[in-house]
Amino acid sequence: MKSPYVFTPGPTSVRENVRLARAQQCTNPDLDLQFYDFYKGTCEKIGKIIKTSNPIYILSGEGILGLDSACASLTEEGDRVLVIDNGVFGAGFADFVKIYGGKPVTYKSDTTKDINIDDLRRFLEKDSDFKYATIVHCDTPSGLLNNIDKVCPLLKEFNILTVVDTVASMGGEDIRVDEWKIDIALGASQKVLSAQPGLTIVSISEEALRVMENRKKPIMGFYNNLTIWKNYYKEKWFPYTMPISDIVSLDVALDNILNEGTENVIKRHYKYGNAVRKAILEYGLELFIEKGQANTITAVKIPEFIGCDKLIKHMLEEYNVLIAGSFSYMSGKVIRIGHMGENADKDKLTYLLSILEKSLMDLGYNKKNKSLVEEFLKNL
Ligand SMILES: *Cc1c(COP(=O)(O)O)cnc(C)c1O
Repeated sequence: MKSPYVFTPGPTSVRENVRLARAQQCTNPDLDLQFYDFYKGTCEKIGKIIKTSNPIYILSGEGILGLDSACASLTEEGDRVLVIDNGVFGAGFADFVKIYGGKPVTYKSDTTKDINIDDLRRFLEKDSDFKYATIVHCDTPSGLLNNIDKVCPLLKEFNILTVVDTVASMGGEDIRVDEWKIDIALGASQKVLSAQPGLTIVSISEEALRVMENRKKPIMGFYNNLTIWKNYYKEKWFPYTMPISDIVSLDVALDNILNEGTENVIKRHYKYGNAVRKAILEYGLELFIEKGQANTITAVKIPEFIGCDKLIKHMLEEYNVLIAGSFSYMSGKVIRIGHMGENADKDKLTYLLSILEKSLMDLGYNKKNKSLVEEFLKNL
């Protein structure tokens, strides 16, 4: 299989040392007690990145497993759950809540802006009878970054547990699980962390665990039951055989971040996100997001006469560069540039933008006297 240059908003590029880590000889992760320490160490590295002392678990399964598990473990028949929806993944939580017999109440908000805190407060003053609330930090199909630093503490004022999907932001944006009172934070290996797809990451607060353990009826399922991890280290028992090669490579990807420094990595994402956005605007194109733009992804509106599908196909077929379109209400309207993790990089983005610029011109876009690449470099 020929691999294109990948600039999708996850999976993203994987550094060579992470790829090679997978080739290591591996031990039996159930029986070799060394592995329990290794696994715990990897989880603790994630804790440093998202600033929490809550326990963290790495589960075998792509990011969706985290969303599914959080809803499965918390939801009981008839529970009211507040689903904060200003994006595709935001809305999608309602489906998981329903599967487990809960009653989702959707709080709809502008899909081009982060949450208006005063409006949410007014809503909660009238109705706050929710077991938990769900919100997405970075809603990947649009690149909207929600202000969870304000939303989560507000929800906790009303005694509502907070479940946050940080899959597309973990590593690239500031996340303070403890300070912002995030009961469950969900992540995945293949986005900003820049490892291969296959792993879910979950951090669980004491309060969330207590609620799960005090259910009237048991959790429906095993794979999605977050309470089974609690004593894995003490009892030296994993619920199932851990995908050791995936975890060994994730560990290297986390070291890549920690060696650069968590704060430096966040700054790097801002630097390149900001330069991409400015270049796009200078080049005469428009951004989808008006307020609350993620630094990991940029959704760019593409004029109808060019067409998103045509542009994406052209870039892949002519130049072997893979970017993404979007779906739902953005389908056919935007392309998405992933500048997350390993792709938040000067050389890589210079290359991508030069191919994007060339492709736009091939398809008849003509922005005289401006160069996308030059604008990008100027704004670094
Ligand atoms: C990628 C992602 C997930 C995981 O879902 P996929 O099946 O990989 O699409 C969940 N939430 C968000 C916000 C994501 O970006």
